[in-house]
Amino acid sequence: MKCQLSKKLRNNLIRICVVLAAFVVVFATDKAIGLAEAVGGKYGWLLPFFLYLGVYLAIAYDVLWKAVRNILGGELFDENLLMCIASLGAFGLAIFRSVKGMPAEGFEEACAVILFYQIGEFFQSYAVGKSRSGISELMDIRPDSANVIRDGEAISVSPEEVAIGELILINPGEKVPLDGRIEEGASSFDLRALTGESLPKDMGAGDMAISGSVNLTSSVKVRVEKEFHDSTASKILELVENAADKKAVAENFITRFARFYTPAVVAVALLLAIIPSVVTGDWISWIYRALSFLVVSCPCALVISVPLSFFAGIGAASRYGILVKGSAYLERLNKANIFVFDKTGTLTKGAFAVTKVVPEERWDELLHLAAMAEQGSSHPIARSICELAGECQSDCALVNEAGMGVIATSQGHEILVGNFKLMQAHGIVCYPAEDVGTAVYVAKDGEYRGYILVEDLPKDEAKEVVAALNASGKTVMLTGDNEAVARKIATELGVSAYKASLLPADKVDEVEALLAAKGKRDALCYVGDGINDAPVLMRSDIGVAMGGLGSDAAIEASDIVLMKDDLRALPLAKRIAKRTYAVVMQNIVFALAVKLVILLLSAFGITNMWMAVFGDVGVAFLAILNAMRVNTKRGYEAKSPKPKIAK
Ligand code: ADP
Ligand code: MG
Repeated sequence: MKCQLSKKLRNNLIRICVVLAAFVVVFATDKAIGLAEAVGGKYGWLLPFFLYLGVYLAIAYDVLWKAVRNILGGELFDENLLMCIASLGAFGLAIFRSVKGMPAEGFEEACAVILFYQIGEFFQSYAVGKSRSGISELMDIRPDSANVIRDGEAISVSPEEVAIGELILINPGEKVPLDGRIEEGASSFDLRALTGESLPKDMGAGDMAISGSVNLTSSVKVRVEKEFHDSTASKILELVENAADKKAVAENFITRFARFYTPAVVAVALLLAIIPSVVTGDWISWIYRALSFLVVSCPCALVISVPLSFFAGIGAASRYGILVKGSAYLERLNKANIFVFDKTGTLTKGAFAVTKVVPEERWDELLHLAAMAEQGSSHPIARSICELAGECQSDCALVNEAGMGVIATSQGHEILVGNFKLMQAHGIVCYPAEDVGTAVYVAKDGEYRGYILVEDLPKDEAKEVVAALNASGKTVMLTGDNEAVARKIATELGVSAYKASLLPADKVDEVEALLAAKGKRDALCYVGDGINDAPVLMRSDIGVAMGGLGSDAAIEASDIVLMKDDLRALPLAKRIAKRTYAVVMQNIVFALAVKLVILLLSAFGITNMWMAVFGDVGVAFLAILNAMRVNTKRGYEAKSPKPKIAK
């Protein structure tokens, strides 16, 4: 196995091993021959005392220092202080017993407390580091350099230095440094780091090369379309790096909990040390019980395992090309039971086939007019019409009428392309088409020119996903398309409800109404493609953007991005959220329960400090192992997964 420990962690591990060995030697000799008795006399206890003190200082100096620093900084109660009080107290007790002429014992417990605490701490840092590097490794998309072609020569520069419009050369094996369009050459691209998709994608001239993907087979030249900080790779990295800010309710709860819990525990320990001692006069055993109590009450298992579980969940999701912007959204997704979908490009493929052209005069003129106007629009309808019309030059100035269509002006002419609403809004005289399908009406200079009927098919997986989501809640489809098309798709897919002919603002109103009607335990999840539905994405409890690849708007407005354009990622994300939440709850309940039992036992003097320290470190250990269970390689795929080609 490759050793991936950071230098700091490795040094710490060495220190722990050396000290542990020294401790075992001292402890074994002491138990075997009795160090104090071997020296004998009144000061015989000083030998074990100094030996254990050496061990203690070697392992505890940083904890002691942290506790002192925190006290000076005004932050009194944390686990460092608990451990210091407990171990120093144990030392004090042992010295007291020795001075009083009782058998010299208890030094080993003081050492053991800190030693095992340090082992637990080491394991925690290791686990956190591992899950963090897991995410950045999966997100290994940061390009190191770009080969920019200047004066006919390719020179290697940092991607930040490349301007829009420059030509870059991407050799096989290299990461695409910036988003841009392929101008020369064709190649296969590995998008796995971005989407989780294991099959490479073939792309050629005119296709969009996306930063963070890897060029596999042959060199291509790409015309840069976005600066580095606007490119997909940067956007995604920024998103992943900021994920820690959006904390889940459970996470915040634990932080607040630790804040009042620790002082409370110290207070109880103090009472436990004083009151029974005054009553019984047996100071030694009650102080000892109070110290054990302090050891076991250390909250680190909780404090660390909850964020760690969420982190593992976010990591697991990113393996499947699902970017979750913070633990809060994973927590909410677990509750989500109202799923609202945009239609075009979300439930349907967004690849429209033109099924009919109904011109007033000539069909080729109609198509050409529409294609010219749609040139600058990124709407799926626009893309399909342009594709059908083929090459076409356009100098149109474009106004997008969201949810209706486009208004283009070219050489003094105004071309309207859009739905019936758009025609009505501009007072164009025409009749609604009778065919079922999305009719795209075209008008030039206020005169109706005809319509183009386009049709979109539901995504292959849509029906199965809708059924899966219906099982645990309800599904709603909102669309700007007409009633007939909406009804057809809705019935075919089996969504619980649908609304048609909505403008983007109407979609917000619909979502508002659903939000107002939902119960306290419900959460609304809106799934869209990010094209003109940013307002709804932001308004919902969880905004999920589909096919985030290459769409900044979607990445920015949403809380969860499904990089691959596959709806099955949605139930998959929900399964991950569910397992994460379950593990978080298990850890909280388990840690609190075990601690409570040992606390009671130690208050009644049934346990000793050894048990206390194992209780504390053991619980932390198990909680961390449990948390890491979330981020396993497999286990989230649906029951009958599509066969995947292994690497
Ligand atoms: P959806 O809600 O299904 O995602 P949109 O809100 O994007 O749909 O669009 C609603 C309707 O507006 C479309 O069905 C189409 O009739 C019309 N429309 C929107 N943009 C365009 C465009 N660029 N070209 C033609 N029609 C458009
Ligand atoms: Mg849409």
